[in-house]
Amino acid sequence: MELVLASNNPGKLRELQLTLAPLDLQLLSQADFNIPEALEDGSSFVENAIIKARHAAQLTGLPALADDSGLEVDALDGEPGIYSARYAGLDQGRDANDAANNQLVLEKLKNVAKAERTARFHCVIVYMRFANDPMPLICQGSWEGRILNEERGQNGFGYDSIFYVPEHDCASAELAPEQKNTISHRAKAIQELLQRWPS
Ligand code: IMP
Repeated sequence: MELVLASNNPGKLRELQLTLAPLDLQLLSQADFNIPEALEDGSSFVENAIIKARHAAQLTGLPALADDSGLEVDALDGEPGIYSARYAGLDQGRDANDAANNQLVLEKLKNVAKAERTARFHCVIVYMRFANDPMPLICQGSWEGRILNEERGQNGFGYDSIFYVPEHDCASAELAPEQKNTISHRAKAIQELLQRWPS
């Protein structure tokens, strides 16, 4: 079965192709279809994943898979949330790259005590059989941690260098990619997708 991944990110495509190998499907990138990015104007990870999957299914006529993910910080009332990728860009027009996003979170938490720095990554993966699928398969994973006082580690991307992982007593950016890929929010969402995949 052919399935389109609603993402232009080659890294995501590779990771999903590997982990979904047991399902015997051909996962194609939406980049192969010259599809423009969907307008992600939902207000939750679930809504945005559905918007992306529906958009890809509509424009390709194929079943579609989409994911949406981000960081939720309790002391910031859930921010950066759905704005994780462009968080610093929302603040006084700064650049929204990983370094600026991390600095902004650290700045906002500078007077927040360790016990109050709880946070988690979320990942939602949605599978839609067709664009008007009334019952999308929605899978999700979360990964609990805490925001560090400064950046640590060189691996990963996004907020990995400020995200403390209690089970390994290090930053997410200090984990080897194989370690992260077994315990992360994304790993858990993919696991749920594998378990619930329609037979
Ligand atoms: P997207 O869902 O791939 O667009 O990711 C949204 C944003 O959430 C990314 O740009 C990162 O800032 C953040 N994010 C999602 N997953 C991770 C992760 O595993 N590590 C660090 N940051 C992440």
